[in-house]
Amino acid sequence: MRFPLSMTAGIAGYIMKNKFRPRPEWQRDGTRKSDPENPFRIMHARAANGRSASPHPMIGKRFPLVLMLEPLHTCNLTCTGCGRIREYESTITQRLSVEQCLAAVDECGAPVVSICGGEPLLYPEIGPLTNAILERGKHVYLCTNGMMVRKRLGDFRPHGRLFINVHLDGLEQSHDLAVERPGVFREAVEAIRAAKAAGFKVCTNTTVYKESDMREIEALFEYLEQFNLDGHMLSPAYGYSAVNDREIFLTRDDVHEKFQDIDRLASRFKLNSTPVYLDFLKGSRDLPCTAWGNPTYNIKGWKGPCYLITDAHHKTFEDFMTRTPWESYGHGNDPRCEHCMMHCGYEPSAALGINAKLGDSLKLLNWVLR
Ligand code: SF4
Ligand code: SF4
Repeated sequence: MRFPLSMTAGIAGYIMKNKFRPRPEWQRDGTRKSDPENPFRIMHARAANGRSASPHPMIGKRFPLVLMLEPLHTCNLTCTGCGRIREYESTITQRLSVEQCLAAVDECGAPVVSICGGEPLLYPEIGPLTNAILERGKHVYLCTNGMMVRKRLGDFRPHGRLFINVHLDGLEQSHDLAVERPGVFREAVEAIRAAKAAGFKVCTNTTVYKESDMREIEALFEYLEQFNLDGHMLSPAYGYSAVNDREIFLTRDDVHEKFQDIDRLASRFKLNSTPVYLDFLKGSRDLPCTAWGNPTYNIKGWKGPCYLITDAHHKTFEDFMTRTPWESYGHGNDPRCEHCMMHCGYEPSAALGINAKLGDSLKLLNWVLR
């Protein structure tokens, strides 16, 4: 995500503090059973595929950057690529209380909270919840499909740390096709217009599918220039196991191809993704998955290992941090991770400076200043 200068400085301070003094209770390895034949185990556990897993550069320094908070999974749309409404079908009418949401915010302490779902504007107490998170000094991304924005804008007041993040997967025809309902693009655009006119910070969130035409995404950003938006987030689609249609998702090679020309787009528009993550998407550098940097909390608990795949729901954040077998996930470790290049696994790695190259700091500074 792209952050204003003061926000970037605050987050940089948070990262440095946690890198130098990682909280010990989050670094324990609660996944390993005691082994009577090797009581002083010094080797890391083997990955799921039998390959030996070398220690992750951030094992021993885990901490969260962005909390994905899902107060409910109810939605007013049924998008083709959405895993949420399918995976949580059995609990789709349930929702977290405001107290549960705030307890999760406090328990994990991430400086950025992305309120998503479902459609968070269907959550009755979304206004008080957002205010209470802002009062805790957090930066809030309110992720919405735009359908309820005009109706509920009065529940919020503009704030320097509040971003309304509208989902748009393409121009009118393509977007309405992806969300399976005509008129959604127009309503989302009216939502953007109204929110900007009321003084809110607004950004967009676009998922790139196999069928997505990057020229159309460029045309979408051109069209949105009239609103002087506060950034665009771009992420390749990931093949949720809950979604049957494998044809719409990208392989790693597809992602590299789609994002080949991303530098040109990044020089024209305010892309929220860090330059290091964009390098990763176009295939010019590798990054490990650091999904603990982007934890998800919902009605079932802390979703492990990540926003995308579910092997467990943990009751506490500490349990999620210490009982998830992190070395077993990521590219090369788990077949379900093979083609994942989603920001929730890899943007934290970029922000944390893993596999950093000479000149990265300058690149990052340039990106922040621009
Ligand atoms: S708007 Fe979001 S939560 Fe709702 S169906 Fe679409 S992708 Fe899923
Ligand atoms: S690689 Fe992707 S799917 Fe696998 S654990 Fe990381 S974020 Fe989740």
